[in-house]
Amino acid sequence: MISETIKKNLSNVQQAINNACLRAGRTAADVQLVAVTKYAEWEWVMALAACHTTFGENRPQQLAERQKLFPDANWHLIGQLQRNKAKLAVQHSALIHSVDSLSLLQSLANIGQQLQVRPRVLLQVNVSGELSKSGFEKDELLNAWDRVVECQQCVDIVGFMTMAPACEDPEAARSTFRNLFALREEMASSAAAMAHGMTLPELSMGMSGDFEVAVEEGATIVRVGSRLFEGV
Ligand SMILES: *Cc1c(COP(=O)(O)O)cnc(C)c1O
Repeated sequence: MISETIKKNLSNVQQAINNACLRAGRTAADVQLVAVTKYAEWEWVMALAACHTTFGENRPQQLAERQKLFPDANWHLIGQLQRNKAKLAVQHSALIHSVDSLSLLQSLANIGQQLQVRPRVLLQVNVSGELSKSGFEKDELLNAWDRVVECQQCVDIVGFMTMAPACEDPEAARSTFRNLFALREEMASSAAAMAHGMTLPELSMGMSGDFEVAVEEGATIVRVGSRLFEGV
């Protein structure tokens, strides 16, 4: 029963992504769904695993445990990362969405060198400017940009992530998503990024309440949790 409900929810979310792609003239294959399992029991994860292989976790510890149990899936870290958990995150994450400072990025670069791997990351940007949100402020990102790009030597910086302000109306999130898209265009065309071949293809934006709007505005990754577990 649980498993049927979860599969139905997954298929509804995927259909909604397809429809949003159609409206925006995009290809559904260009949007990746990260199933956010931070509150999900392992049994629910296994129900999803029958038809899905990309999962998002908030906490490095839980991500590492689950990645070891199910190493064939891609585990993305979407929650805030403390420096003392950075190594664990690098060892177990296919993508870290939540790099919110230059110093964290530099730590990941050092860890990557130590472990002889290239961590794959997104820079989290606080485009809405809400005080409660973490992430680079736009000005901070612009000021740090040359040093950010230097880290590309050891880290794959593949794009940006943002969270829109929580709101009942998904339309309220549209300007946040549009601003992240515009910022990506601006930074990808900067001289420093071009010199390092840094094209920033990925935009991780949109959650259960607003992923359809995010897809319309160019999201390449959506992070959906509660919608998948409705009715479970
Ligand atoms: C929990 C979480 C999500 C998923 O939120 P839902 O509203 O449950 O879809 C997405 N992104 C981040 C960073 C989260 O912490």
